[in-house]
Amino acid sequence: MAEADCLFCKIRDGKIPADIVHRDDDLLAFKDIHPGAPYHVLVIPLRHIAGLDHGVAGDAALFGKLMLTGARLAKEAGYGDSGFRVIMNVGPDAGQSVLHAHLHVLAGRHLAWPPG
Ligand code: 5GP
Ligand code: ZN
Repeated sequence: MAEADCLFCKIRDGKIPADIVHRDDDLLAFKDIHPGAPYHVLVIPLRHIAGLDHGVAGDAALFGKLMLTGARLAKEAGYGDSGFRVIMNVGPDAGQSVLHAHLHVLAGRHLAWPPG
């Protein structure tokens, strides 16, 4: 998908509103529009990368920062003790619906494992 047609690039560029909770030089985090838990934030790289499967070796630090930022946001939101889940869906079987890499951060209820 071309970047111009990408929903999360539009959110990044302010063309579609979102409830943004974090932005830095590499990442943007915003609340999921259909939360699957009391706390449900998406963390995305600013740069358009279609999915984790499109990451290359040079993106290792970026995806590491993505994970650690997701964990920090969950802890700062008060879920450090109760716990949280970070997950990336990749491809159709995992249900990836937006082709811009994003980390789901879920918290605030018991999260069954394995996911459905
Ligand atoms: P995926 O299914 O690709 O793993 O996750 C995509 C997520 O994006 C879904 O949880 C969905 O609710 C969320 N989403 C889809 N459209 C929008 C939107 O316009 N704004 C926000 N904030 N989240 C969205
Ligand atoms: Zn994009």
